[in-house]
Parts: sequence; structure tokens; C-alpha cells
Amino acid sequence: MSAKGGSAFGGRILAIGAHPDDLEFGCGSLLAKEASAGSQIKLLVLSKGEAGTAGTPESRAEESRAAAKLIGAEIEFLEMGGDCHIKNTAENAFVIAKYIREFKPDVILAPHTDENQHPDHAEAGKMARDAARFARYGGLAELKGLATHKITALYYYPVTQDFAAPVDLVVDTTEVYDTWVKMINCHNTQLQNKDYESLVTARAKALGVAIGTKSAQGLWKNDPIRLNNLSDLNLSSRNY
Ligand SMILES: [Zn+2]
Repeated sequence: MSAKGGSAFGGRILAIGAHPDDLEFGCGSLLAKEASAGSQIKLLVLSKGEAGTAGTPESRAEESRAAAKLIGAEIEFLEMGGDCHIKNTAENAFVIAKYIREFKPDVILAPHTDENQHPDHAEAGKMARDAARFARYGGLAELKGLATHKITALYYYPVTQDFAAPVDLVVDTTEVYDTWVKMINCHNTQLQNKDYESLVTARAKALGVAIGTKSAQGLWKNDPIRLNNLSDLNLSSRNY
């Protein structure tokens, strides 16, 4: 990680979504904030939302591309059997691990692994976790020829669900709120199904109130957060 001080992270972020709107609805504000801070962002989408009630795979992929363009992120769509067929198999995790070795992210963002939601979200989250592990293993024949890579951290984001567990991390995303709303509205076909904009921005606003800002992104950690000393935590969440 190349920390540049202040609010800028300036690292490399690999963000994984199961469907074409997961990243924008679930962690779009954080992606927008990191993009504005100079982080290099790659989005991997594991389907084109083929099972969706509204939109075609082509139109949905196009909506995602438009959202990615707003923040200057790279985006790729992977073929893993399509919407509702995503499974955390070793073979699929090797594909993600290959991207990890090639892109060398500091941070991976993936959907929360709670079981009571679209099963693709949980599978994608578990696949990201396993892929990050596989990317470290030097003897894997499937990844031969690519140098091993160890990420700094894996965090989980909620797609549209709220989970019982309180979030582990909260990031102030007030400054990029308008960009985030634009990203959400790229997914016009999905907004016809439900008012997802209100759903996810209401959550962000509530979390923002809790930490004393106007909008915030919550995340869950996969591993303990390592600090050199307590001054690494120089921001307070005492409004909780
Ligand atoms: Zn989804």
C-alpha cells in the first residue's frame, strides 16, 4: 500500500460483484471516494444479470460500464455460468486468483457472505475470500507463471440487504454523494423494479448520522485489523 496521507489511500482496489449493479448499490460511494483520492480501481462482475426481471444482459452490462466510466474504473465481466448459477468452486476461485496476481490489489471488496440473500452474493464473497488465499500459494499449478500476491485486506460490503451484525468499519463518503447517486442511476433498468436509490442512500445517510457526517459506507472485515499503534486510528466514531 502506498499511503499518501490525509484522506487519500492511493492504492489498488479490486472490487468484485456478482451482478451488474452490486458494486454501485453496495459500495459505489466508497469506490467514488477512492477514485477521487487516486486509487486505481478494477471492477470484476461475475455475471451480466441474466436472470433479472428487467433489462437484458447487454443493457445491464452497458449500465455498469457507464457507472465505471464515471469514476474512471476498469471493468470486466467474467463468465461463471450466469446469474443464479455462480458457485464458489476451486476452478472459479482460481480465475479470481489469477486476476489478483495480475492486478496486485492492496484491498479487495466483495459482497457480504450472509446466506439469507441472493445466493450469488454470498458465493461471490466466499469466492473472493478463497481466491485471495489461493493467490498467495506458490505451488498451485493452475496459477503457474504468475507471481504470488498477498493482499492487505478483504472487506465485505452489503448489496441491498442489511445484516444483523454491526459494521466493522465506517467511511465518510459525504464528498462523493452526488457522484454515487449518478452511478446508481446508471442502472435504470433495475430502478424500475424497486427504488434501490432510496434503499441504499437511506442506509448511507443513517450511518452518516451515526458518525457525524452526511453519508457513510459501512464494511465488514474478513480479518483482524492490524495497527502499528493506536494513533493509526486517529478518527473517532464516538457518535455511536
Ligand atoms: Zn446482485
